[in-house]
Amino acid sequence: MNILLVGSGGREHALAWKLAAAPSCSRLYASPGNPGIAEHGPIVALDVADHKAVIGFCHEKDIALVVIGPEVPLVAGLADDLRGEGIAVFGPSKAAAQLEGSKGFTKDLCARAKIPTARYERVTSLEAAWGALKHFDAPFVLKADGLAAGKGVVIAQTREEAQEALSEMFDGKFGSAGSEVVIEEFMTGEEASFFALTDGDTILPFGTAQDHKRVGEGDTGPNTGGMGAYSPAPVLTDALVDRAMREIVEPTVRALSDEGMPYSGVLYAGLMLTDEGPKLVEYNIRFGDPECQVLMMRFEGDLAALLMACSTGKLASADPVRFSDDTALTVVMAAEGYPGTPKKGGTIDLGSAEAEGAKVFHAGTARGGDGALVSSGGRVLNVTARGSNVTQAQAGAYKAVDAITFEQGFCRRDIGWREVEREKN
Ligand code: ATP
Repeated sequence: MNILLVGSGGREHALAWKLAAAPSCSRLYASPGNPGIAEHGPIVALDVADHKAVIGFCHEKDIALVVIGPEVPLVAGLADDLRGEGIAVFGPSKAAAQLEGSKGFTKDLCARAKIPTARYERVTSLEAAWGALKHFDAPFVLKADGLAAGKGVVIAQTREEAQEALSEMFDGKFGSAGSEVVIEEFMTGEEASFFALTDGDTILPFGTAQDHKRVGEGDTGPNTGGMGAYSPAPVLTDALVDRAMREIVEPTVRALSDEGMPYSGVLYAGLMLTDEGPKLVEYNIRFGDPECQVLMMRFEGDLAALLMACSTGKLASADPVRFSDDTALTVVMAAEGYPGTPKKGGTIDLGSAEAEGAKVFHAGTARGGDGALVSSGGRVLNVTARGSNVTQAQAGAYKAVDAITFEQGFCRRDIGWREVEREKN
């Protein structure tokens, strides 16, 4: 079958790598793509916000499956419009995409389905917000309701700080995403990510991971889209995965189906492992970036066939999901300035980074006039390696990082540190 992959990050490069290698994929197209994705199939200049143009392209190229990487086109309803034309899509409908598109929607659903998560209140005005604050203790968790590219969450240590942050939110700091705010109780524990594939009926666990959100070593400094990740996350034991499936993911998928918005695609549950058990921090309606890179590094099987089965209600009869027992770890190389304004145009030489089995996934890269690889965004490369545990995978990833010349780039040198510490004991 012919496949169209939507997206341009390291997540999509990892998906492209596995999709193009799948026996059931004849031709992979990608839009907007990047130079790494281009090695796996033609890049198409489509405006993915123009759903008619995407549909026209799918008809022209006989596309059987569209795989949508990022959340924005899903929240905008691209999957609905393609399905309306009889084209199979990996990714949820606009209605189900509210799981990521509206934090208030998700919290209300959790309340209806009795899913463990932080106590919360939804507010739509500054007066109401200041009133609601009285029902919570420090630290205060304040979340803009809508999509804010991972920047819409403030953890305020004092009531004054919380009031200031709320004023900014209702003043339009996050645009319309902040016209409603969710105030939450603070949960304590270690965070981990759990992935499941579902067609709305069958639900298959699809791996675990942990990421590193802060820009600085030791998890310090401002938040980023993610500076590295590893999979599996040993902290999410089989028993905890069973519990997360039973208490969180299954009731969510059932509730959405019962309420007429069946979920199809990958469901990414951000979990807090509290003393009382796993609790939901957030849902994402797509693979994580860079978590997808480490999942794909371990995935074994025909990804195209699996995603097609997921998109057409046939997960129950799909081949079993298989992952290597190895650990995969990815290090994000970012451009100087990130997560502020990154320097663009830095030259990159990948050297012998892939010589020993590591994979370098492209994110913000472009080809310069002379065809040379240059940086074109904040997060630039995802250097990914496998090993028998996190310590081994980390060593492989940093060996590959050290083989790369990217003078205007930087990376954290401690990806996987928590687990490396645990592995010492
Ligand atoms: P992203 O997409 O970047 O993961 P987001 O903007 O969708 O983030 P959340 O994941 O809900 O927002 O929150 C971001 C981070 O804030 C979480 O990863 C977690 O570290 C912290 N956080 C969120 N809610 C809570 C909570 N109730 N208690 C403690 N920490 C929290």
